[in-house]
Amino acid sequence: MNSPAQAGGSVSNEIRIEYMTSAEIGAAIGGGARTAVLPLAAIEQHGRHLPLSMDADHADELAVRIARRLGGALVLPTVRVGYSPHHLRFPGTLSLRASTLEATCEDYGANLTAAGFERMVVFSGHIGNCPVMSEFTPRLERKLKPLSVIVFTDGEAIIGAWRRAAEDVASLGSNVGGHADVAETSVMLVLHPDKVRTDHFTRGYTGIVDKELLARTFHDGIDSVTPNGILGDPEGASKAIGEACLDAVTSLIVDYAQTRGA
Ligand SMILES: [Zn+2]
Repeated sequence: MNSPAQAGGSVSNEIRIEYMTSAEIGAAIGGGARTAVLPLAAIEQHGRHLPLSMDADHADELAVRIARRLGGALVLPTVRVGYSPHHLRFPGTLSLRASTLEATCEDYGANLTAAGFERMVVFSGHIGNCPVMSEFTPRLERKLKPLSVIVFTDGEAIIGAWRRAAEDVASLGSNVGGHADVAETSVMLVLHPDKVRTDHFTRGYTGIVDKELLARTFHDGIDSVTPNGILGDPEGASKAIGEACLDAVTSLIVDYAQTRGA
């Protein structure tokens, strides 16, 4: 089943460039599309109940929602593998070096001005990319000039938005921890319910997730905080929470991009 953002889509309203022809992209730019949205992601463990594609599937969906809300925007292909060294002890996890992620963003943006775009909005479906993105943003802005580069790096704001959404919908804000929790699991129930192993829900670390704890997961590996690789608890996951989380994070990133001129 197609995700909501794609449902009912016809070729003529496709906005993901990899599924468009070059002529269609040229026509869209000619018609006023000046923003390119670049979704970053990860291929990393998400407990025993979610596949490694969680953040990439999430980024695919958020990118389309963000671009439609911004208007005049096309979506670049999701960079599916991200910066995940803190998950490497779990089989299957892949990780780019921070320098590779930065170079990839630079190369994705390098030809956009020549193609007619004026700005690139970068965000991540994987919160673990945010510190790396914060660090490289000034260099990316400088290197890609005159392209305007808008990078959303506030991972704590995303976790906060999830917590409010889960609390509002089902009084489950305390099950949000930021990784394979009730928020991410609910999002996957919206996008690809067949990918959720509902018989394998297990509770992870449910203490306070703050800068200090996140720094510890980055430094010592996420398994030093939570042996099963989960921050939060998937229990209570539902499509209603997933929709609320998708809406909340879309708004967060769209609002930020608009204050920066998108
Ligand atoms: Zn995730």
